[in-house]
Amino acid sequence: MTAGHGLAGAGCDLCEAARLTPWHAEDDRCWVADCEVCGVPMVVWKRHGAQPPDGEVAHMVAVLDQVADARFGPGRWSLDRVMRQIPGHFHAHARPHGHWSVAPGL
Ligand SMILES: [Zn+2]
Ligand SMILES: [Zn+2]
Repeated sequence: MTAGHGLAGAGCDLCEAARLTPWHAEDDRCWVADCEVCGVPMVVWKRHGAQPPDGEVAHMVAVLDQVADARFGPGRWSLDRVMRQIPGHFHAHARPHGHWSVAPGL
């Protein structure tokens, strides 16, 4: 897929959307996969930009909600919207309580 990859997303890891880790969900607006760095579920906007419209954010949080509730249990994780590694492209992590990061595969 090359169409739609404008200059803004050139060289952006999230735009490349390499499937290095298992994907849990995908739709026309976002995808959810385990974060390569943290090993926790992460939702990623399919468009390049740091500030999606509120409606898109609500949608993405809802998708991540389902994955994280299934993985950690309702109420046992927190949404982390701080974009440390890739500040220019919206993504959010679901972090389980008591663990800042968990090793993948454990
Ligand atoms: Zn991007
Ligand atoms: Zn991460």
